Amino acid sequence: MTAPTRIVDVHALPTMLTALRLPSFHRHWPMLAERADKEGWPAARFLATLAEIELAERETRRIRRHLIESQLPGGKTLATFDFKALPSVPRARVEALAAGDWIETGANLIAIGNSGAGKTHLLCAIGHALVEAGRRVLYTRTTDLVQKLQAARRDLALETALAKLDRFELIILDDISYARKDQAETSVLFELIARRYETRSLAIAANQPFSAWDTVFPDQAVTVAAIDRLVHHATILEMNADSYRRRAAADRTALKADAAATTSADSLGDQPADILADTLKENFKT
Ligand code: ADP
Ligand code: MG
Repeated sequence: MTAPTRIVDVHALPTMLTALRLPSFHRHWPMLAERADKEGWPAARFLATLAEIELAERETRRIRRHLIESQLPGGKTLATFDFKALPSVPRARVEALAAGDWIETGANLIAIGNSGAGKTHLLCAIGHALVEAGRRVLYTRTTDLVQKLQAARRDLALETALAKLDRFELIILDDISYARKDQAETSVLFELIARRYETRSLAIAANQPFSAWDTVFPDQAVTVAAIDRLVHHATILEMNADSYRRRAAADRTALKADAAATTSADSLGDQPADILADTLKENFKT
C-alpha cells in the first residue's frame, strides 16, 4: 500500500493512538516533535525514539500489573532483608535464586525453619525480584489457596482453577504446615503439586520439618508422594534462626533500658513494666 498523499488530520492523532493502544506515544509525541523540529531530526529518528519510549513504558506497566497480581506483601524485598541476621543462608545463594534460572525448569524452593526466622520475607523478596525481572509470581497463604481450590472442586471446576494457576511461573505457598488434610481421597494441594511437577515452580515456607507434613496430606502415601515430587528438583533452605521479631523486640528493650538508665533516677520505677509489656506484645505476635 502506498502512503496517502492527502493531508492527514493531525487532530485525530490522540484518538488514533488510543485505538492503537499507544499511550506513551500519545503522552510524549508533542514534546518530542517540538524537539525534533527544532533539532532537525530525520522522521525515522523521531519515530524510533517514540517506539523505544512506548516499549520501555509498556514493560514498566506490565511489571506494575504483575506486581499487583502477585499479591506479594509490600516492603518485603531484598533491599530490606538483613542478611547478617541469617548466617545459614549466604547472600550469594539468595542472589542466585533471585536471578531465577531455576524457574526455567520448574524446580522448587523450600524454606524450613522456626517462626520468625524470615522465611516469608525471604521468599517474598525473591518473588519480588523475579517479578521485576519480568516473571509472573503468585504469593498466597497455603490455607487460602487450598480453600479456593476446594471450592472449585465442589463446583467441578478444579481442573480450570489449576489451569488458571499455570500462568504463574512461581507460586509461593506460605505456611504449608498450617494447611490441614481435607476429607477427600486426594487433597487439592497434592493435585496442585502433581500438576506443576517439573513444569512450574513452587516456593514453600514451612514451620515444620518434612517428617511432620503428614498432617497436611490425607495419608502417609500421599505425603510421601508429594514430598518426593517437591524435593526431586529443589533448593532447600534450612532457616533456623532466632526469631527476628523477638530479637528486634529485645534490641528495643535494651535500647529503652539504656535510655532509662541515662534519664533521671525518679522515672526508672515505671520502665520495667512498659518494657515487659512491649516485649510480650512482640513475642505474642510470633
Ligand atoms: P517467618 O515467615 O519465618 O515466620 P517472617 O519472614 O514473617 O518470618 O519474619 C518476621 C518479621 O521479621 C517480618 O516482619 C520480617 O519482615 C522480619 N524479618 C525477618 N527476618 C528478617 C531479616 N533477615 N531482615 C529483615 N527483616 C526480617
Ligand atoms: Mg511466615
